[in-house]
Amino acid sequence: MQDLRAQLIRRLLDLRGRAHRIEEHRRAPLEADIEEQALSAEDDQVVDRLDGATREEIAALTAAIRRMNAGQYGICEVCEELIPVARLHAYPFATRCITHA
Ligand SMILES: [Zn+2]
Repeated sequence: MQDLRAQLIRRLLDLRGRAHRIEEHRRAPLEADIEEQALSAEDDQVVDRLDGATREEIAALTAAIRRMNAGQYGICEVCEELIPVARLHAYPFATRCITHA
């Protein structure tokens, strides 16, 4: 599951990076706490100017990483059974098992 987590964080940073490039004032170099940076809310105004699909993906990524931090990632929100890893790889934002999707 660590690889999936790293993948989600990289993707989130990439999308946030795009927001910064649009703004043409890329601050905060990638450093110390990469995850903290990925989850930072400080750039929300910048993110607001992205298109809707990108904003939705950022929100879904942030929620998924927070579920990981809380130990709730990969657990169906209806039946609380583990969601198969193959499903998570295909659909990393899944919050429900196949039965309850
Ligand atoms: Zn379920």
